[in-house]
Amino acid sequence: MKTIGVLTSGGDAPGMNAAVRAVVRTACEKGIKVIGINRGYQGLIDCDVRDLDIRSVSDIIHRGGTMLYSARCLAFKEEEGIKKGIANCKKLGIEGIVVIGGDGSFRGARDLSLRGIPCIGIPGTIDNDIVSSDYTIGYDTSLNTIMQMVDRIRDTVESHSRCIVVEVMGNRCGDLTLNAGIAVGATAIVIPEIQADVEQHVIERIRRTQKTGKKHFIVMVAEGIGGVDALAKKIQAECGVESRSVVLGHVQRGGSPTVRDRVLASQMGYRAVELLSEGVGNKVVVVKDDKIVDYDIYEALTMKKPVDISLYQIAHDISI
Ligand code: ADP
Repeated sequence: MKTIGVLTSGGDAPGMNAAVRAVVRTACEKGIKVIGINRGYQGLIDCDVRDLDIRSVSDIIHRGGTMLYSARCLAFKEEEGIKKGIANCKKLGIEGIVVIGGDGSFRGARDLSLRGIPCIGIPGTIDNDIVSSDYTIGYDTSLNTIMQMVDRIRDTVESHSRCIVVEVMGNRCGDLTLNAGIAVGATAIVIPEIQADVEQHVIERIRRTQKTGKKHFIVMVAEGIGGVDALAKKIQAECGVESRSVVLGHVQRGGSPTVRDRVLASQMGYRAVELLSEGVGNKVVVVKDDKIVDYDIYEALTMKKPVDISLYQIAHDISI
């Protein structure tokens, strides 16, 4: 392989830059030319690209966001969009692509691989919702950001004997909410994987804790559940504690990546180029039991990851 492309797609995540850096440097080391594709699949359709060399990726390892920019490109879900992308790969001499993103991005990578452009996917998303991988790039940074934000909120909640209901990112995946919830000592955690009557569950937890003399409470709710404002009002009415809600929002997606995300991104970027240089495509590079491994994209997309019930139980038992 003489020339490869690299793109970042879907929601951005801290550590994507570190992955791009690893891809570019590994390829350069192997004598492979790298073309950076801007704004995900949109850039492939529009032929919006730039050449990258070892110096183009200097000073980005510590930066959040993505130097290649990202996009949600609906056109790439259609045959016409994919055909344009393939034609542009041929025009530019791109023989393989490293795709950094989430499940949707991997579907695009599979479509390209099946049509003769081998692609390797790298999981980059704060939500940790890639079932084939124990961790995704950006997840650890986001967890730490959430913890720091809620620690600050705790100071004021404690001073005023209030309850705060915090909405955390993660639509269908409660990993951020559950793990950050344990880290901040949340009295109640609500995640989409565990079906419950939300109001009843949260109010029961707060009442139980009130009996022990505690006067301030943190409730963590996953984005996919929503309704934090109504929940805060209900808590105030039922438990007699002044309650507020906060949606942490995009602050969770930014910032300098943690050590863990930088190292993971470097390992995954390195492995992705190794695979492409061996002529292997249609794979995702993931972390499983602390090892970097690769799976067929189709296999990876159809895997299931059950929620860690033991973690939920720990939160239930010790956050009182
Ligand atoms: P997010 O979950 O942050 O939206 P994804 O990594 O799932 O991120 O990326 C979604 C993007 O992947 C879409 O906006 C689109 O550009 C691209 N994509 C390419 N092919 C497909 C496909 N077959 N299905 C869904 N998304 C696709």
